[in-house]
This record gives sequence, structure tokens and C-alpha cells, in this order.
Amino acid sequence: MNILTLSDKLVESIYTPSIVDRFEDVDLILGCGDLPYYYLEFVQDILRAPLYFVHGNHDSKVEYGSAGEKTAPGGATNLHRRVANYKSLLMAGLEGSQRYKRGPFMYSQSEMWFNVLTLVPKLLTNRIMNGRYLDILISHAPPWGIHDQHDVTHQGFKALRWLISVFKPAYHFHGHIHLYSSNTKDETQFVQTRVINTYGYRETKIKAISNDHRRNSGDNN
Ligand SMILES: [Zn+2]
Repeated sequence: MNILTLSDKLVESIYTPSIVDRFEDVDLILGCGDLPYYYLEFVQDILRAPLYFVHGNHDSKVEYGSAGEKTAPGGATNLHRRVANYKSLLMAGLEGSQRYKRGPFMYSQSEMWFNVLTLVPKLLTNRIMNGRYLDILISHAPPWGIHDQHDVTHQGFKALRWLISVFKPAYHFHGHIHLYSSNTKDETQFVQTRVINTYGYRETKIKAISNDHRRNSGDNN
């Protein structure tokens, strides 16, 4: 399965009808926050692929445009505190960054623990129904200590680190940390999870989640 992940930066080479040629084999679009809703809708409409997303801290509660008011990209599925099964791919999402001012889509560490814990019964149900907890986690912020930075705004969440260490998704896509240098680390293997900062856009070919990964992610817990 071919996945296009987007976050944080409107990329002109993506916001053009010609992406249909470049990404014609994309099966799934994942939005990791801090992008205009019209942009995500455009990519979804052009590529005719389903879009699952979470909000970033810079997202508007209401986006005003020529098509009226939007609180989310039309036709897309908000994955915050939810799980979804798309063609047997088990996904979950968590929105927002650390709270550094008043506004939506920001959480304290303890508030994010609450968000993460509300996912746990759904992941346990996945394990019973599908034999594994989770294949892909999307979030806006990174996990604590992985790709994050020292200032509160860009610190990762401890609860996200716990979630991927316990439930071992094959992939965790996040945004929020802007990449200004090709030397900045944007992929990290953590336990059994490939953690990827998708700043701008990333195309990732997901191999079938291996039986080994499925067995390990179940048996180690
Ligand atoms: Zn952000």
C-alpha cells in the first residue's frame, strides 16, 4: 500500500493538478496537522484516495473560504482518539501539540495521557478482533525524546512514547517539528516502530504488516 503523508507546510509541487501523475498509485492520504483544510481537500479530490487526519496546533477551529466555513477537510475522517480499519490496516490518531498558550488542539502532558488512555480499550478490541493492536499511529506532535526539541512548544508527549512502546505499531507518522536542514533526523526506529517526521510530505510504501511484526506486537504484551 502506498501512503502519502502531509503536514505543516503547503508544498507548491503538491498543490497542483499534476500530482495526479506523480502520485497516481497512492492508496491512502494521512494528514498530520498544521495544514489548511482546502489544501487537504484538494489532494484528496485529485488523488481520489481516502484522507484520515489529525489537527495540529496551528489549525483553525473554523476555516473561512469561498466555499463557506469549514471545521475540517470535507470528506475526511478525523482520527483523534479514534481507531479505523482501512483495507485491514489498523490506524489510530492523536491531535495537537503541548499547550504553550490559549487555544484549541493543545494539551498538557497529563491531558495527552487521558487522550491516549481513551484509545486503549479500542486497541485491545483490535487485538481480539484482528490479532494485533495497531499498524499505524498518526499524531501532530512527536513522542517524547524522538525528533522533539527542548522548548515546551516542540517537546514531545510522554504518553505517545508509552503508546508506541506498548502497542508497537509498525509506523508512527508525526509532524510539528519543522525540518530546515537535511541533517536533521526525520526517521527513527524505536522498539518495533518506524517513527517518521512527515514535515511537508512523504511517500511511504507500506509492505504487508509481517506475521513477525504481528506476532511480536501481540506476544510481548
Ligand atoms: Zn504544530
